[in-house]
Amino acid sequence: MPIYEFECEGCGERFEELVAVGVEAAPCTACGSTRTRRLLSAFAPPGRQPRGARVRSDESRRREREAARGERLAAAKKRRGGE
Ligand SMILES: [Zn+2]
Repeated sequence: MPIYEFECEGCGERFEELVAVGVEAAPCTACGSTRTRRLLSAFAPPGRQPRGARVRSDESRRREREAARGERLAAAKKRRGGE
């Protein structure tokens, strides 16, 4: 189960909870209020949430783009340098 970070709207407490996928709120660990909201968190393990998967693929696309640009630069340098 992923760990989510929650913020209590009652007392402002922030806490982390292991909750099932899709659970939006967990009772506050400080005051017991159920008026908590889930924060966007980096604690959720990869592979369980669409949002996480989208971020990961954006990141890998960016890396691929950078790698491709590096290769193009290297090729251009080679042509100019006449190696
Ligand atoms: Zn609270």
